[in-house]
Amino acid sequence: MGNYVITGSASGIGAATRALVEADGHTVIGVDLLDAEIEADLSTADGRAGAVAAAVEQSGGVLDGLVTSAGVGPPFDPHKMLTINWFGTECFLSGLHDALVASESIAKVVAISSNSTTCGGPIPSSVVDACIAMDEAGAHTALDELGDMAMHIAYAGAKTAVARFVRRHAPTEQWAGSGIRLNAIAPGATLTPLLQGGLDDPQFGELIRAFTVPTGDFGTPDQIGSWVHHMLSPAADFMAGTLLFVDGGTDAMMNADRWPETS
Ligand code: NAD
Repeated sequence: MGNYVITGSASGIGAATRALVEADGHTVIGVDLLDAEIEADLSTADGRAGAVAAAVEQSGGVLDGLVTSAGVGPPFDPHKMLTINWFGTECFLSGLHDALVASESIAKVVAISSNSTTCGGPIPSSVVDACIAMDEAGAHTALDELGDMAMHIAYAGAKTAVARFVRRHAPTEQWAGSGIRLNAIAPGATLTPLLQGGLDDPQFGELIRAFTVPTGDFGTPDQIGSWVHHMLSPAADFMAGTLLFVDGGTDAMMNADRWPETS
């Protein structure tokens, strides 16, 4: 049986995934603010460093899988949101790489991105480039230049950085060539405490409800967790760098001809 780290394990998609991984008999090292094996605040540099070090220690330096689900959504302080959703994800992707290489099987990583990457309008490269460059001060400065859009871009920009990290690194010698399958999932609106926080806000609630979901209702944490669970299984041995949209058809509806693109 394997060792898995799941961030955001106490709620929503992370908790649903945790239940499925544990039902397989694996050991889960959860990371969350509360109710987790590693209780840490990923909005601070010390919290992130301590959580990654604890994950390496508790796993004995050998991991079979990682799911990065910790995150927050609007309405939330844009700077803190960018920090949690990107820097609080990247630290595990990079910091647990060596433990994943040490797995005796093909290790699996599923990063939780979002369909806000393609369905919420243009995302300035300034924020995403600074994130990918790990220029934390630069990312926050770029956010400050966006005025009213800062809250939206803090979320969508962080999730785009997550997707870009996965696409860039997954097919390389250091990842696919070293026995790790790195993929991402892009959920659409999924009824969790995070989404409920948005729905309860007068401004964001209206925006979320106006967003068309072709299949009808919002998704459930179990529906997303089932796909994450599948992406942790041997079914993903031939899967690397995929950004899987599970969003009731919203991305297809908005971007049908944009990707795959023609010349
Ligand atoms: P959720 O609120 O149910 O779970 C998020 C978890 O992250 C919580 O347990 C929370 O305590 C933890 N967390 C938040 N801030 C933290 C911090 N500073 N340090 C440590 N842990 C922290 O929400 P969810 O909807 O299950 O979200 C899971 C992931 O899915 C997030 O990354 C979110 O952005 C993404 N996502 C959600 C939706 C949606 O509609 N729910 C859509 C697309 C993507």
